[in-house]
Amino acid sequence: MTESKRAQILIVDDNPQNLKVLGEMLSAQGYRLIAAQNGVKALNLLEKKQPDLILLDIMMPDISGIEVCRQLKQQEYTRHIPVIFITALTETEHKLKAFEAGGVDYITKPFVEEEVLARVNVHLALKRALTNLKILTTTDSMTGVFNRRFAYEILTKQIAIAKRENSSFVLCYIDIDNLKKINDIHGHSAGDALINTIAKSLKETVRASDYIFRVGGDEFLLLFPNAELRASEVLITRLRKLLNQQKIEDMPIDFSFGFSEYHGDDNISLETLIKIADNKMYDAKLEKRSK
Ligand code: GH3
Ligand code: MG
Repeated sequence: MTESKRAQILIVDDNPQNLKVLGEMLSAQGYRLIAAQNGVKALNLLEKKQPDLILLDIMMPDISGIEVCRQLKQQEYTRHIPVIFITALTETEHKLKAFEAGGVDYITKPFVEEEVLARVNVHLALKRALTNLKILTTTDSMTGVFNRRFAYEILTKQIAIAKRENSSFVLCYIDIDNLKKINDIHGHSAGDALINTIAKSLKETVRASDYIFRVGGDEFLLLFPNAELRASEVLITRLRKLLNQQKIEDMPIDFSFGFSEYHGDDNISLETLIKIADNKMYDAKLEKRSK
């Protein structure tokens, strides 16, 4: 069975017969299915489950499929799911409204099974390609953590969330100690191994809800959403212990770090927030060197 056949599809239709026919046809192809008989149920379901694709009826008793689609496209966690409308409405006016609402395709009833399948397959393949592209453009290829560009995207969103919810978050700027020396003495590949070791230890230390970004050659930025500074400091102490136990080519591994905190009512820019953590990291490095 191909990857696409394991995809999960949500069918939203108020007619049980339509649900049955579409459901049987798609499950016979190996797709995993979930169903909702009206728009409200579909929206509730989508708060918990995010399918790979949605087949959406338009005329339904409570809210129309067009409105359901509009709402999905406004929410961060559902906006990426392709919506194919499947409806008895054949007028161009309805088709245009469906595409304006964010639909990717429009199938009219009575439908031809092979055509529904072909369209579903195309949109699942496109979605997979977009997901892969997103991974490529947001990931640092050497370490597998997120890259600098994505840091700015996520942090801009995080500031908006903190303002909206009056919450706070913590940033930690990390710079590896003496990487030049390790490169000079043991070669660039030993330096690369050190960067990878630190990235791996970071992945093992932070929580699943935290973010790790590689923002420079030997610099990492950590984002702890909804976190207290104290709890984040505990994590960094744990990371340091973990790394101090290891060595690269007999050289001890260490790093310097600095924190900054953002509160919903703060009025500072993202650049300033990063700069505060970077400056503290630099002060820590100077202090370490002076010892
Ligand atoms: P410090 O303790 O002050 O941080 O000194 P440092 O030697 O780590 O130097 P600094 O942070 O100022 O500069 C980082 C150095 O890391 C510069 C460059 O030679 C090296 N570097 C940057 N990116 C890579 C990389 O991808 N691989 C390797 N092996 N080295 C890198
Ligand atoms: Mg360094």
